Amino acid sequence: MFSSINPYNQKKLKTYRADSPAVIERKLKQADRAFADWSALSLQERLDALRRVGEHLTANNQQLGALITSEMGKTLKEAVAEIDKCALSCHFYADHAAEFLADQTIQTEARSSFITYQPLGPVLAIMPWNFPFWQVFRFAIPGLIAGNVGLLKHAPNVFGCALAIDEVFRTCGLPEGVFQSLLIDVAPVDGLLKDRRVKAVTLTGSSRAGASVATIAGSQIKKSVLELGGSDALLVLADADLEKAAETAVRSRMQNAGQSCIAAKRFIVEKAVKKPFTELVLHYIEQIRQGDPTDDDTTMGPMARLDLADSIERQCRQSVAKGAKLLTGGNRDGCNVQPMLLHKVKPGMPAYDEETFGPLAVLIEAKNESDAVRLANLSDFGLGSAIWTEDIAKADRLARQLQVGSVFVNGLMRSDARVPFGGIKQSGFGRELSEIGLKEFVNVKTVWIE
Ligand code: NAP
Repeated sequence: MFSSINPYNQKKLKTYRADSPAVIERKLKQADRAFADWSALSLQERLDALRRVGEHLTANNQQLGALITSEMGKTLKEAVAEIDKCALSCHFYADHAAEFLADQTIQTEARSSFITYQPLGPVLAIMPWNFPFWQVFRFAIPGLIAGNVGLLKHAPNVFGCALAIDEVFRTCGLPEGVFQSLLIDVAPVDGLLKDRRVKAVTLTGSSRAGASVATIAGSQIKKSVLELGGSDALLVLADADLEKAAETAVRSRMQNAGQSCIAAKRFIVEKAVKKPFTELVLHYIEQIRQGDPTDDDTTMGPMARLDLADSIERQCRQSVAKGAKLLTGGNRDGCNVQPMLLHKVKPGMPAYDEETFGPLAVLIEAKNESDAVRLANLSDFGLGSAIWTEDIAKADRLARQLQVGSVFVNGLMRSDARVPFGGIKQSGFGRELSEIGLKEFVNVKTVWIE
């Protein structure tokens, strides 16, 4: 049995019975059968279906958003924005996938030679709870458009969202079996990855989970895409617009109660501007209003689970024990953790070395811009980064030196369907979104006709 619990008040929302081996087998069979029919449809038919999904999400954004809020605690405003982002991405792919998936002629001495992109089959998607719709749709929209079918193993605290996603696809007329949630914990994943009907896997989650899943997938010679943790640096150089940089830094770090893989987790600030930047950051942290996530006035909801709140508290406490200074925050009531700002943070402290998945901002002083890049790269993770400077030529040069999958200059680091998203180092491999993400789960087939 699994339970979903409202993190704001700890009330149990619902219990779910785990799928038995017989139910898992039935869903696998259905996925296998559905793949044959779904992949045989014309691309236009699949695009039309996904466009309907986008329209349905927009029409039901309040209700679906409320479900997200109840299960994992983000504010209703954030939850509705998440649904709207899924809808927008459905339309983006509906508009562009035909061009992305078109056969590509290659000039050779053959009569004709070209590349054609074909689906692989059922893909297992293992997803976390922090963006319970967006993480799933980020895989599912391009994955299904390419002709694959999806099997979802969602995090158990958001099983209500998982079933609601099934319902969205069903209501929009996608054939039975094209997208199905499995109500399972980690144990059956090994068997699923070894099942010949499952052709590939995508996992968004911790590096620990990614390593385990990729090991099994590798042993079966199956493709995997891993979107893992991050410890993104936000570089504030001496010539930055400090006001904008501080406002964006706090938004980036504190949105979703700090539970975002691409949150700015380390603010690396040139010494010359550290003091005014710190004051601005404190000012913006003070503007955060915690409370009931369904209230319009609340700008930060609770963290999603008690164990996650325990974890961020521990990281802060241990960093302070090693010499960091807490400038604000740290009080806690259940899952509601008051936003924190730590300074004097150095390598060797959990707030520097580990991923911090909660409302904890960290200030690190850099001597100059090259020291800032050095400190940013001094991390096991390599997901994203942001640079704040008025000198765009300098930003361009430094962006190329950062060991990450994305760099945003003078803006909020975010995912966007039009550009690839993913990381290097312990943050994973492979890309989601854009044309590149769409092509992760296809057979890139060469045809050569003499
Ligand atoms: P997690 O513990 O790794 O869980 C994520 C998903 O993986 C859940 O469905 C979980 O199932 C499953 N899982 C865990 N261990 C597994 C294993 N050994 N084999 C198969 N499946 C396994 O991650 P989390 O702590 O809930 O989520 C936060 C993490 O996700 C952070 O590290 C964050 O940075 C990362 N994340 C990355 C991105 C990105 O795009 N790069 C986006 C969002 C989040 P159970 O819940 O049943 O254990």
